[in-house]
Amino acid sequence: MYNAKAYSAASATSPLTPRTIPRRDATDRDVQIEILYCGICHSDLHTVRDEWSSVMPTTYPCVPGHEIVGRVVKVGSAVSTFKPGDVVGVGCLVDSDHSCRNCRDDFEQFCPSATFTYNSPDTHLGGVTYGGYSESIVVDESFVLRVPANLDPAGAAPLLCAGITTYSPMRHWGVTSGKKVGVVGLGGLGHMGVKFARAFGAHVVVFTTSPSKGENALRLGAHEVVISTNAEEMGSHVGSFDFILDTVSAEHDVNAYVNLLARDGNLTLVGAPERPLPISAFGLLFGRRSVSGSLIGGIAETQEMLDFCGQHAITADVEVIPIQRVNEAYERMLKSDVKYRFSIDMASLKG
Ligand code: NAP
Ligand code: ZN
Repeated sequence: MYNAKAYSAASATSPLTPRTIPRRDATDRDVQIEILYCGICHSDLHTVRDEWSSVMPTTYPCVPGHEIVGRVVKVGSAVSTFKPGDVVGVGCLVDSDHSCRNCRDDFEQFCPSATFTYNSPDTHLGGVTYGGYSESIVVDESFVLRVPANLDPAGAAPLLCAGITTYSPMRHWGVTSGKKVGVVGLGGLGHMGVKFARAFGAHVVVFTTSPSKGENALRLGAHEVVISTNAEEMGSHVGSFDFILDTVSAEHDVNAYVNLLARDGNLTLVGAPERPLPISAFGLLFGRRSVSGSLIGGIAETQEMLDFCGQHAITADVEVIPIQRVNEAYERMLKSDVKYRFSIDMASLKG
């Protein structure tokens, strides 16, 4: 065991503050990583503030962070795919049982014993796992991803959660050229959704509550922007979408978007608001529409997504901050004031 510097919250109402945490010594199968950048996901904020207490209560202290890019510093004797110096990524998963049906089908995110990067039981050290707001992490080789060399590491970090969470459902629901695709909410997830939908060749429409984001949405790859509070603009799209990705982090009216789906259209929720969202049966009945959910992606698909990003030079648009500004970043995220992901420069933790 060794000590690592980190930032943690002591309770649901505490700010994040410096703390020293234990990390295990690398076992035969482990990779020890010096963290270079860690993205700030809205899930970090939900967890730190215990907003998902009814489903996944938070254990404190909580060290969030699951959009990790770092450099390998040490590998165990049985590790074959990585060597010191490699630039690698770690997302929301650090372990699973490797044997259940979901794991066998490359859906480790649905393994009943999945270990998430933070706030999951830590089978090595006891207590809970600690995430990427830290200088270092030790992870089983099978949950470590290769980051293409041409990608800027600060902008690549958010691919490990925001990237795969938007890539996976679009692949699953067949977003390709000729399809009309909506992305609701232009935050960290939403802006990656726009980039992927555009790269897959779809006609992309962004729905935003922030009129000031309109120009940026077009620059990011959208063909059209709808201000979702404008009933007339919403009305002009009724019954026309093949697929809509809803990334909104707070309560909102999903039915307004279900009504925009064409026959057999699908709306996938990736946003995870604190409270249940009411859904009208009628919106689904007329047009055989469906509403579904999606959770990050498996390890193989995450690598596929990173390789796709390497080939197409796709990274997140990031505002790089020192860790000392993390609490301010959380407040700005709540005000939808992020263009479009904060990425923490972990060098700021040293010294
Ligand atoms: P984010 O950067 O804060 O973006 C959320 C966006 O939603 C905002 O930028 C805003 O976009 C819109 N929004 C916020 N409050 C709203 C409201 N009251 N009404 C309507 N729109 C609102 O968050 P994120 O990191 O992208 O995460 C989004 C959600 O996905 C969170 O709930 C997070 O926990 C969840 N998540 C899920 C997964 C998964 O695997 N399913 C993975 C990661 C994150 P506009 O300003 O454009 O309206
Ligand atoms: Zn996340």
